Amino acid sequence: MHQLTLAEIARGLADKKFSSEELTRALLARIHQLDPQINSFISVTDELAISQARAADARRAAGESGALLGAPIGHKDLFCTQGIRTSCASKMLDNFKAPYDATVVSKLAEAGTVTLGKTNMDEFAMGSANESSYYGPVKNPWNFEHVPGGSSGGSAAAVAARLLPAATATDTGGSIRQPAALTSLTGLKPTYGRVSRWGMIAYASSLDQAGPLARTAEDCALLLQGMAGFDAKDSTSIDEPVPDYSASLNASLEGLRIGLPKEYFGAGLDPRIADLVQASVKELEKLGAVVKEISLPNMQHAIPAYYVIAPAEASSNLSRFDGVRFGYRCENPVDLTDLYKRSRGEGFGAEVQRRIMVGAYALSAGYYDAYYLQAQKIRRLIKNDFMAAFNDVDVILGPTTPNLAWKIGAKNNDPVAEYLEDVYTITANLAGLPGLSMPAGFVDGLPVGVQLLAPYFHEGRLLNVAHRYQQVTDWHTRAPNGF
Ligand code: GLN
Repeated sequence: MHQLTLAEIARGLADKKFSSEELTRALLARIHQLDPQINSFISVTDELAISQARAADARRAAGESGALLGAPIGHKDLFCTQGIRTSCASKMLDNFKAPYDATVVSKLAEAGTVTLGKTNMDEFAMGSANESSYYGPVKNPWNFEHVPGGSSGGSAAAVAARLLPAATATDTGGSIRQPAALTSLTGLKPTYGRVSRWGMIAYASSLDQAGPLARTAEDCALLLQGMAGFDAKDSTSIDEPVPDYSASLNASLEGLRIGLPKEYFGAGLDPRIADLVQASVKELEKLGAVVKEISLPNMQHAIPAYYVIAPAEASSNLSRFDGVRFGYRCENPVDLTDLYKRSRGEGFGAEVQRRIMVGAYALSAGYYDAYYLQAQKIRRLIKNDFMAAFNDVDVILGPTTPNLAWKIGAKNNDPVAEYLEDVYTITANLAGLPGLSMPAGFVDGLPVGVQLLAPYFHEGRLLNVAHRYQQVTDWHTRAPNGF
């Protein structure tokens, strides 16, 4: 049963081939058996899962239907889940049980999903390797010595290992698309404002966006359908109707204009990845797409701009963790200053502390204009580049990552080397655009992803292109050895 996709599960449940409770029990057993090797879960919620599965079975017996009714999923451990530990993979929140559900969690629960657990991640979603978790690194099911990508590495590894058909994730600079690429999954970062951020513990509020991680574009469409929509509780949520994402999956690609940014194929890209990206372009051409070279001239400034803006917002967002209101508090503080200092010093890991310091520095009176304001100007230029490009093309295609999944520990002494891995993904966050990564082959047994970007609110187009591609390729059907 663990090989079933969300779409197959929906059909199996509708045809009464199995119940949600049977499926849920089978997957929970698999998680308990196999996850110790991968470490993709922070919490496994057996009791909640069984009760949600029974409720979903009862709703079906009463005549209800729905693609997600009874579907088992996992939530990245930064979505608040009422009464359940919501840790953000930090010692700071190790003891934090959220008093309410995030909108994403409650919407999916209403649609009938079954929560099997909370997935591991980089601490406070800062990272590209899932090595900074307080609960230990996540291993890539394709090769245990390698990282699964981050920060949604737990969600990705769990789905890749067939412990779950799909999971929620978040993407601030690539954290859905990059782990999707490194574990051979399909992952979608929606347009900023498409999915509510309410109850999602904030990293960088102007960049954070939740989306689905699954094996196929078809499944991403199903999960996104359950997540997307206006939410009055999130002031940046956009009141736009949500289209039927499954309905447009099969649309023809005849005449689709694909832009290949020349900056995406320059120095720094592993040539073996470049070859696989070109092979995916050939497949799409066979389906009727036409290809054109484009330019995104300000791309080179994206990483420095992002690594000012994201830490600046993080330093502000994370100030709420003060040892008083939430989470960890140091032992025997001598006074209030000592309480703040030691609670934060002991509760946050090294990378989180580094970003808070960088962010606070960039926002400080003397440096605000030199760093933060400059970064915001670059952000506008990057957005303008995309707007110009989308006058000529319908989607932009390139590699998701410049390199293959690296060995655990390989970049631990060089944070900037890890930051550079985000080179192709962060521009979409800076501009607020939707992006998708889909499996496009393997090099040395490690997965490679291709990224597609589209204009605002064209998630349906991304899913359509990926789905058509998945009809003529089988990369997305391959499972890691032993899973
Ligand atoms: N790797 C990027 C960072 O560390 C992106 C993380 C994310 O998207 N959450 O900030």
